[in-house]
Amino acid sequence: MTEYTPKERLSRALTGQSVDRMPAVCVTQTGTVEQMEACGAFWPEANSDAEKMAILAEAGHTVVGFEAVRVPFDITAEAEFFGCDIKDGTMEQQPSVVGHVVKTVEDIEKLKGYDLSEGRISVVCDATRILADKYGDELPIMGSMIGPFSLAQHINGDEWFMAIFTDEAFAFALMEFTTEFSIAYAQKMVENGADTMVIIDPTASYQLIGAEFYEKFVVPFHKKIIDAMHEVNVPVVLHICGDTTQGLALMESCGVDAISVDQNVDAAAAVANVEKAVIVGNLDPVNMLWNQTPEKIREQSQKVIDAGVGLLAPGCGTVSKTATMNLQAMIEVAKSHKY
Ligand SMILES: [Zn+2]
Repeated sequence: MTEYTPKERLSRALTGQSVDRMPAVCVTQTGTVEQMEACGAFWPEANSDAEKMAILAEAGHTVVGFEAVRVPFDITAEAEFFGCDIKDGTMEQQPSVVGHVVKTVEDIEKLKGYDLSEGRISVVCDATRILADKYGDELPIMGSMIGPFSLAQHINGDEWFMAIFTDEAFAFALMEFTTEFSIAYAQKMVENGADTMVIIDPTASYQLIGAEFYEKFVVPFHKKIIDAMHEVNVPVVLHICGDTTQGLALMESCGVDAISVDQNVDAAAAVANVEKAVIVGNLDPVNMLWNQTPEKIREQSQKVIDAGVGLLAPGCGTVSKTATMNLQAMIEVAKSHKY
């Protein structure tokens, strides 16, 4: 029987090649308080210090047992980079975006000419490099970033949802801008050793904006990022929150390799609704992984696998207070599954 490294195994699983068993990975954020206590790198510092970010990301492998390492832990570095006000995170909570910087096409112009070697964008790239130097031969190095639609919302504010319906010129200009940035940032992570890209685009939701607008304002932009990643042989996982069941075919049309679905989606329906994208998910991070026993988690994990998911994983970001043994229960079931 062929033995694969975790890196080969995930890469093969994401690109539709045969593998010996299911990889045990988490495509959404991995940081928890127990890991912070075990490795000595804590939020919020681990969000803005490359060494600490790498140490806490590494704990996902060394403490919990995930067969990959992944950075960062939040989705505000991009908005912060463009000058949005950020509410600081705590040891248990991720930072959030509270102020916005773009109202008009002219405002977008002012953001151009940015330098990716600055701010928290460069911290994430540095952490990626540290992890790749240490684990790059063996483990998948997952780079993650916010998707262009949700980044547009972060830098424009909640008016963004109105803008796509009422001001097409502005909405397209902002999507072009955020997408161009996303590609450059993703490429920089890859240059620093990332071999798998995760796009977290929580509000790019078919459920929120409908098929017509999703097709117009999301699909072509996701496609550009994914094409750029495929050019450098990096598979892409797309995570969108909420009940994406009816939108999966449309989400897949951007050419993405895998789609991470949340706990509101029926896993079997998700598998039935895609042509070839690998379905990733979808244990409830709150009601299952955080608040249930390992035994219950094993049971539910088996159900999700039986529904046909390609990768068993949390349905959204891991809750920081989740117990290590609970995550390990999920990992155990994933590792024992032969396709
Ligand atoms: Zn989510």
